[in-house]
Amino acid sequence: TDITKIRNFSIIAHIDHGKSTLADRLIQRTGGLADREMSEQVLDNMDIEKERGITIKAQTVRLEWKGHVLNLMDTPGHVDFAYEVSRSLAACEGALLVVDAAQGVEAQTLANVYQSIEHDHEIIPVINKIDLPSAEPEKVRAEIEDVIGLDASNAVLASAKSGIGIDEILDAIVARIPSPRGDPNAPLKAMLVDSWYDPYLGVVILVRVIDGSIRKGQQVKFMQTGTTHLVDRVGAFRPKIEQLPDLGPGEIGFITAQIKEVAQARVGDTLTDAKKPAAEPLPGFKEVQPVVFCGLFPVDAADFEKLRESISKLRLNDASFSFEMETSAALGFGFRCGFLGLLHLEIIQERLMREYDLDLITTAPSVVYKMKLTKSAGEAEGKEIELHNPADMPDPNRIEEIQEPWIQAVIYMPDEYLGPILKLCQDRRGIQKNLTYVGGRAQLTYELPLNEVVFDFYDRLKSISRGYASFDYEQIGYRAGDLVKMGILVNNEPVDALSMIVHRSTAESRGRGMCERLKDLIPRHLFKIPIQAAIGGKVIARETIAAMRKDVTAKCYGGDASRKRKLLDKQKEGKKRMREYGSVQIPQEAFIAALRMG
Ligand code: GDP
Ligand code: MG
Repeated sequence: TDITKIRNFSIIAHIDHGKSTLADRLIQRTGGLADREMSEQVLDNMDIEKERGITIKAQTVRLEWKGHVLNLMDTPGHVDFAYEVSRSLAACEGALLVVDAAQGVEAQTLANVYQSIEHDHEIIPVINKIDLPSAEPEKVRAEIEDVIGLDASNAVLASAKSGIGIDEILDAIVARIPSPRGDPNAPLKAMLVDSWYDPYLGVVILVRVIDGSIRKGQQVKFMQTGTTHLVDRVGAFRPKIEQLPDLGPGEIGFITAQIKEVAQARVGDTLTDAKKPAAEPLPGFKEVQPVVFCGLFPVDAADFEKLRESISKLRLNDASFSFEMETSAALGFGFRCGFLGLLHLEIIQERLMREYDLDLITTAPSVVYKMKLTKSAGEAEGKEIELHNPADMPDPNRIEEIQEPWIQAVIYMPDEYLGPILKLCQDRRGIQKNLTYVGGRAQLTYELPLNEVVFDFYDRLKSISRGYASFDYEQIGYRAGDLVKMGILVNNEPVDALSMIVHRSTAESRGRGMCERLKDLIPRHLFKIPIQAAIGGKVIARETIAAMRKDVTAKCYGGDASRKRKLLDKQKEGKKRMREYGSVQIPQEAFIAALRMG
């Protein structure tokens, strides 16, 4: 392809502002699919993505418009996948900034647009959903200028839903986004933008060629991982697969090279010609590390092998998630898994339950702590270790210092919710850094310990603000903190799945809340059950579950037989999903529910 005819762009938007709808509309208009093939939201091709309305894996589509090749790069829409977003943006020269004409600019719009600006993108504002009665395109245009500082005088007014402004958007892409630059005669340099496992093709790699070209039969070297592979297919998605003889400078497309696991194909790696390699890899490579860890255990111990197989299969397609075997006194055999964030955790957990039909117990999610141990005899200096599991917490006497990860969060909200949101951040040990107002909105910047955010911060934020607050964060490094391990004892036995690392200042209220919730979640038994939260040997909170009355069905005042049967069935159902702790049965739901902070 003539490089001057290429346009590479992505779409940036806050969730629900219409990115996927617009992408589908662009595909439809440029004839990539016949009308009857347009299933809703072609780019979001996994079921869970569809249901949750988010894009997890970046995808790309090659469009043709008036003699030009337009490569549309879709980007994941959640903070957990920030690195993938950054690589996708690095593969483009421009972006469509989609803003909902009724909602206006939101936190994620801002975070994404700043990244786009950092990548020197030409940005075309698109004010979407102008068909809505509540649309205020002129207000949003002014907001884009005031809040983002972007010239929006030639923003395109559009409705992805009703097909308004689509041709204008395509024309603007051709006219305003610069074509890529690259040297066709230099040694191959291509960026690995994304990779995924396809059951028919094996590992598929999405690349953006910078210099040189990539073709079938070529030996390519992955400069970061150091491996060499034979390219056996080259092509593009239109959105259906189309094989091509090669991809030249500026082009975006895919290759396959008989690779078995996505772990061998790291996002951000540089592909070069094995025989005539480039001198240096492309800048910006980063190895993504899981930040949130938890244990996954089968409810039924007999499912362990099935869990192992299922997890291994998922891992084939997701190099950012990690797992290793773990044994717990109470839960038996399971896996300690690492995730990019809580959404990532939920996605994996949900896929295991749904696609592989597994009943799972998830232990308290934990961030990675760093600790410095005191010197033991013969050591010049105390060891430094990383802690992924509260169960592995060393004896407090051996710990010189514990550090926890911190984030900087930007929260954007209508200002009527400011009070309660400030309180939430304050309760979570936050440090306020900035507060500004734009129109009727407040933009709040806070530093927060990641540990206080991973459980339910996002849910709380959404419920406090009735969905109007938006949230975005980045990690800012480790800081020392007064952290302790809080254990939970049920009937005087420790339940390791519920132990967690907490800040000393919040331990007591956290412990009390946990005991209160467990009191409601654990059914009564024939005997009294004490529930305690403890730090070391010291009990900091306690509750007691009273012994059960003899007959549960006695509650059903007399004669209603069907109601009685229902209750008994419910008990039976409940029994299946319980774990035994010594002589106490704890329902599966209790584990997750107990971890939600009140
Ligand atoms: P994304 O999260 O940015 O990918 O947003 P989607 O494309 O999934 O759209 C979110 C919701 O907004 C869906 O219910 C769409 O049908 C709807 N939507 C998208 N574009 C328009 C539009 O132009 N007008 C109206 N009224 N609704 C739209
Ligand atoms: Mg979407």
